[in-house]
Amino acid sequence: MSIDFIKSIYFELVSYFIPQKIKYKIEGHCIKCGKCCKEIRAYGLKNEMELKFMQFIFPHYRYFYISYIDKNNQIVLSCKNLNTDNTCSIYKFRPFLCRNYPKKYIFSNIEMIDNCGYKVIKKHFKDYL
Ligand code: SF4
Ligand code: SF4
Repeated sequence: MSIDFIKSIYFELVSYFIPQKIKYKIEGHCIKCGKCCKEIRAYGLKNEMELKFMQFIFPHYRYFYISYIDKNNQIVLSCKNLNTDNTCSIYKFRPFLCRNYPKKYIFSNIEMIDNCGYKVIKKHFKDYL
């Protein structure tokens, strides 16, 4: 079991319980491109065995399958609940992870998916003065 994999479990857990320290302002709206359901990146996951382990611990990971491996050797997941028109087939019952996307508050720096209708504006210290 790699250090990155252990970190991925840690980050998944803290994302539920730890109040985020960096504030981001999210602007824009969803243009229903479906990319965030086709290109799901879980920090540190590198192979099927690690995905299976995550599926065992976090049941919503059972919706996801490996789509491809990116240039950083990380697996990129897709969701089997995505319809061909980019709507969610379990919308009313979609997991918390999806309901909460994009989060207003996060604990580490992020980039939005290319061409997503949302933009992340980092708030600087002076914005709070
Ligand atoms: S990537 Fe952005 S615009 Fe596309 S479906 Fe997801 S939230 Fe909506
Ligand atoms: S459950 Fe629905 S909203 Fe969540 S990733 Fe799958 S298709 Fe997207």
